Amino acid sequence: FADRDGLIWMDGEMVPWRDAKVHVLTHTLHYGLGVFEGVRAYRTPDRGTCIFRLEEHTNRLFNSAKILGMKMPFDRQTINEAQRAVVRENGLEEAYLRPLCFYGSEAMGLRADNLETHVMIASWEWPSYMDPEARERGIKVRTSSFTRHHVNITMCKAKACGNYINSMLALREAIDSGAEEALLLDNEGYVAEGSGENVFLVRGERIYTPDLTSCLDGITRATVFALAAELGYTIEERRITRDEVYIADEAFFTGTAAEVVPIRSLDGRQIGEGCRGPVTEKLQTMYFDAVRGKRPENAAWLTPVA
Ligand code: PMP
Repeated sequence: FADRDGLIWMDGEMVPWRDAKVHVLTHTLHYGLGVFEGVRAYRTPDRGTCIFRLEEHTNRLFNSAKILGMKMPFDRQTINEAQRAVVRENGLEEAYLRPLCFYGSEAMGLRADNLETHVMIASWEWPSYMDPEARERGIKVRTSSFTRHHVNITMCKAKACGNYINSMLALREAIDSGAEEALLLDNEGYVAEGSGENVFLVRGERIYTPDLTSCLDGITRATVFALAAELGYTIEERRITRDEVYIADEAFFTGTAAEVVPIRSLDGRQIGEGCRGPVTEKLQTMYFDAVRGKRPENAAWLTPVA
């Protein structure tokens, strides 16, 4: 991934992709204390390429840094402008963006107190996080043997680099067992989230999702709340057990990378009809219309890069 053309924004400057390097003694590489975001930009019919919910992603990045006590060397406006610039200057029509704040190689050890926060923003084409057919067919999911983070072991509201060890262990286990994604339970055994997605259930006329105690406060999750409200649903946030997922009519994951993706089975139990259900389909269509600028009522969620 390092050997390609393009530009990466690093500490205030555009750097050729191949030269965007750090030293092996980069602090975050050793201890995992860093924060990042995953953002997407989409082509729209009349406003060119637009970044979806840029303000919300930047706010979460700054909140993540605050939670971990990382001093941000740039203000929000600079980070927003830099994100627009990387999409624009790389000539991308649709893109995934990865802002990352990390400690540099100023010092080693846990006690280092003169570390500087560095910021980089990369962007590339990433059309589909999962198999493209998954949007219709849905994915096979396994309950993970790895528990989701406990709120007093790490900071679950921060999108922190080190938190993703747990996600990667869970995802690899799920894939090795023939599934496409993992469902992680919290330390009490209740449904928390996917390795990089929030989860929703549909049962009868109701939509449920776990409360945010140990989950990331997903921006796609918040978007789905707004879209579901338009359809007349009030999404209920509550504790959910894995067997409730087995007997749901529909279930789906949400995330910037995964977008809205139906779950067709959990632990080998078919969910509903075993494919995308009607409520999931409606929300998914509304989501893709919103991100691609086809819903004038959601125009405020889009920031043009040009
Ligand atoms: N949970 C986790 C653990 C994630 O990594 C993500 C992806 N950022 C999400 C949920 C979904 O968040 P969002 O919709 O903001 O991408």
